[in-house]
Amino acid sequence: MEKEILLYNTLSRKKEKFKTITPGMVGLYVCGPTVYGDAHLGHARPGITYDVLVRLFRHLGYKVRYVRNITDVGHMENDADFGEDKIEKKARLEQLEPMEIVQHFTIRYHEAMTLLNTLPPSIEPRASGHIIEQISLVENILENGFAYESNGSVYFDVETYNKRHPYGILSGRDLDDMISNSRDLEGQQDKRSSFDFALWKKATPEHIMRWPSPWSEGFPGWHLECSAMSSKYLGDTFDIHGGGMDLLFPHHECELAQNTASRGNGGVNYWMHNNMITINGQKMGKSLGNFITLEELFTGSHKILTQPYSPMTIRFFILQAHYRSTLDFSNEALVAAEKGYKRMMQAGRDLEKLSRQEGEASKEILDLVEGVYRALCDDMNTPIAIAHLFDAVRVVNSAKDGKTALTAGDIEQLNTLFNNIVKEVLGLTDENSVGDSSSILEGVVNLLLEIRTEAKLQRDFAKSDAIRDKLNELGVIIKDTKEGSEWRL
Ligand code: ZN
Repeated sequence: MEKEILLYNTLSRKKEKFKTITPGMVGLYVCGPTVYGDAHLGHARPGITYDVLVRLFRHLGYKVRYVRNITDVGHMENDADFGEDKIEKKARLEQLEPMEIVQHFTIRYHEAMTLLNTLPPSIEPRASGHIIEQISLVENILENGFAYESNGSVYFDVETYNKRHPYGILSGRDLDDMISNSRDLEGQQDKRSSFDFALWKKATPEHIMRWPSPWSEGFPGWHLECSAMSSKYLGDTFDIHGGGMDLLFPHHECELAQNTASRGNGGVNYWMHNNMITINGQKMGKSLGNFITLEELFTGSHKILTQPYSPMTIRFFILQAHYRSTLDFSNEALVAAEKGYKRMMQAGRDLEKLSRQEGEASKEILDLVEGVYRALCDDMNTPIAIAHLFDAVRVVNSAKDGKTALTAGDIEQLNTLFNNIVKEVLGLTDENSVGDSSSILEGVVNLLLEIRTEAKLQRDFAKSDAIRDKLNELGVIIKDTKEGSEWRL
């Protein structure tokens, strides 16, 4: 915890020195998925970004209460206040209960997140389980004069709010610009103006997910759940609120306005937003035919994929970019990430076998370790941290080739990097460690080398040379040393 952490705050638009409200304890709220479809590439980025943030804080000695919600009601098509509920629509098409859809896709989402080696949140509240809290929040906002009831629905009164508190402060918008660009009130006649947003919606007769309230039988507006659940589990003011850039407006802007309208302040000290993934330069979307689920990525079954990509390749690929930069997905970039990931894992395995001399760690190695920590504590700069880690890979490779010698102190520091940083903080596990083709290959080559050593001992040089030549042909390079023989591909 002695390490200073800098975090970019979307609200202040600059990096700030991070300070927790409660010493040693981080309260983090992240907007989770609306569970009406399979987890896709767009879910992987926030999943991994906030996972690394949680891992980093824990590694540095903080306790983290990580709350990530499941949206199972109130999220309408086109993120609007009208149209069909996304989950109800899927349920209607599949002829299932909405909660069957929620259950199915929540399980699928967890499976994908587990494969990506993200840690589960400390609390995972569902919107439908917090209707009472949401109704009381609406009552609160009504009492404070920032909302109005209309035909059984309740809307947030943006213009009245804006007279006391700036609306648009988080996303950098100005209400006057929004007014001049606003569209007409088509399909939303209950509202006084088009940028007012629903806190409570009266259910139409065919609407399935509905609850009694003082205003009508209905359901909460999409933005309400996060204000209600974050304050319930993290308090009226908490440390960090995270989510994707696509949620900045209207979702987070509305959340901040609801918080302020009910409790007098925005409730969040640091707002964090991860940037989006594009695919070959385009936004991902069902209509563009480039919508890729995580399962399709892992199995290679989507038509734009030239091969399957493992969960750790995806994780490495995402961490190679800074979370606030856009990240363009392409087969070439993924293949390069796969190579980089494998090189790093190989170095981790080689490190365990290196011979060492007595002695302290060199300045070069200590600087490397320091550089990695500095990068991670500087607004979670994973690409710079990974660049330093590749310097460490080069150190390992050079020692393995016998070009340089490492001390016990050096090896200890390198072990810190590979275990504490690569595995624990970046969450990159070695997919090749057990049971897969590459560990089988390793076992088979080692077995052949044992037979070859045996042959040499019996002075059967024809046999030992034949094994070496045959392996060479297959691309396995053998190097004989005093201790035996080493090999590489
Ligand atoms: Zn949210």
